Amino acid sequence: MATCYLALDAGTTSCRTLVFSQDGRLAGMAQKELTQYFPQPGWVEHDPEEILDCQFSTLKEALRSAGVEASHIAAAGITNQRETVVAWDGRTGRSLHKAIVWQDRRTVEICNALKSEGLEPYIRENTGLVADAYFSATKMHWLLHHAGAVSEAANRNTLRFGTVDAWLLWHLTRGQVYATDISNAARTLLFNLHTKDWDDVLLRRLGMQRAWLPEIIPSIGFSGFIHPDFLGRSIPITGVAGDQQAALFGHGATRPGMVKNTFGTGCFMLMNTGQRPVSSRFGLLTTVAWQKGADVTYALEGSVFIAGAAIQWLRDGLNLIKHAGESEVLARSVNDNGGVYMVPAFAGLGAPYWDMEARGLISGLTRGTTRAHIVRAALESMAYQTWDILDCMQKDAGFPLQDLSVDGGATANSFLMQFLAGLLQIPVKRPAMQEMTAFGAARMAAEGIHQTLPMQDNGLEIFQPAMPASEAQQLLEGWRQAIRRTVKT
Ligand code: ADP
Repeated sequence: MATCYLALDAGTTSCRTLVFSQDGRLAGMAQKELTQYFPQPGWVEHDPEEILDCQFSTLKEALRSAGVEASHIAAAGITNQRETVVAWDGRTGRSLHKAIVWQDRRTVEICNALKSEGLEPYIRENTGLVADAYFSATKMHWLLHHAGAVSEAANRNTLRFGTVDAWLLWHLTRGQVYATDISNAARTLLFNLHTKDWDDVLLRRLGMQRAWLPEIIPSIGFSGFIHPDFLGRSIPITGVAGDQQAALFGHGATRPGMVKNTFGTGCFMLMNTGQRPVSSRFGLLTTVAWQKGADVTYALEGSVFIAGAAIQWLRDGLNLIKHAGESEVLARSVNDNGGVYMVPAFAGLGAPYWDMEARGLISGLTRGTTRAHIVRAALESMAYQTWDILDCMQKDAGFPLQDLSVDGGATANSFLMQFLAGLLQIPVKRPAMQEMTAFGAARMAAEGIHQTLPMQDNGLEIFQPAMPASEAQQLLEGWRQAIRRTVKT
């Protein structure tokens, strides 16, 4: 009896395979680290062959750790680091160059050229993104012009470009499937949100051909079989999505107005906006959440650069705390922030301020300020920054926020969760599931075979707003003052 789902999670720093039982429990997993290459300042690469080895070596081990056979696996899902580009040869299946990773900044110049040609409004309107090196298209352009093997394959017409999902799909199906899921396609800067196809204007400008790009397929539904070479029998792949979109699905944020925030080093927030792409007036990104059958669900995406990283800085930069968990004890040891606000603009400020020159600030210091107030201000800053992005999302989408689902390392802090619920005046839901991205991919895989993978709700904690709305307003006013002191006017 097939009673489990497999999730292949090809992340930036590691590849993992996770096994979920049909009641939504994590039954087993295996993980392997991925080598990071930094050939020049600002450049980040991965070895595509290592991605395959790393990912595939965890398959059998995950099954072993869960104590299940391949025959127990009903379907598999794939989720992956987004935007990273692999180029390979369609005849041999071998990569032609190292993968250029999403963090890589080598294509800033070509992005500036696109801007100076006046293409930015077109890009924003049609792809939902901005002309930034983060996205895949300019990385492909760079490979075409700087990697001999890539341009030779282009001349032979055997070139295949893809994001990591496409690279894995190709190899898992032994070259039978050359496809990418729509949520990954939407991060390339070549995908047109309105036609739901590759965009001819951008293809032409970047010297790209459709033949070098994968077919765009729905995230949920059958996309191919994992070849029996891997686990001894064919396993259908029925869910594929980029990591943030998979996490949104994992949280069960399937209705418009539902939002998830992943609190890690930074924050990644996605809001389900339903069946229409919503363009942002505040510099948020418009993206595809997922597609099932003909139905495409869209999302607004925003990020906070410094979230948990502010706590790391308290620990490593200021030596105010010994470990992240101590921040909760200290924050609770004072009644309030004592008028102290921290704006952790260590790397500039994103939405809605967009001031890349801004730098951090701690305001409101008095003789009565203690280290507890400063630690508390750092934690509170994560909540204020979340509020700022959610406010933009709400204004853009016209949907009231229903609730906020959270995951990521900093959600271990219950003080922060309770403070956030009060500030936002909505419930904050913290599931026990720590592997939301992989769980989302498994959930999609289940849905792809018309099954449901439930989230175990024992362990789900819901933080109800306990702060009066007037107090939330007052705190936000203090935050805005601190922001005014931080940004250029
Ligand atoms: P990433 O995936 O970005 O590496 P994680 O989801 O692993 O991040 O979360 C790690 C971050 O969470 C760190 O920046 C750390 O400072 C923060 N963090 C961990 N525990 C706590 C805590 N109890 N309170 C506040 N922040 C925490």
